[in-house]
Amino acid sequence: MGLGEMITLRCSLCGRFGRYKRDRYFEIAGTRNGPDALNSFAKAAGCERALKQKNAQLDNRCGIGYVLQASFRRRTK
Ligand SMILES: [Zn+2]
Repeated sequence: MGLGEMITLRCSLCGRFGRYKRDRYFEIAGTRNGPDALNSFAKAAGCERALKQKNAQLDNRCGIGYVLQASFRRRTK
């Protein structure tokens, strides 16, 4: 299993951090649509900000995002 199979996520607001196999990630998110998957995943993971997001101000939203694999590769090599 190469690094390309893994997805690394981090939420800058709630501090969540995790690495998942790509398939597992989409399974948790319940969708394979990239932009939707991020948010669905945050909700599935129990991020309160993501759950309230619909009515929240922009700066109060979940900050979940993908972490580039390159930085990991450099550090672990
Ligand atoms: Zn969050």
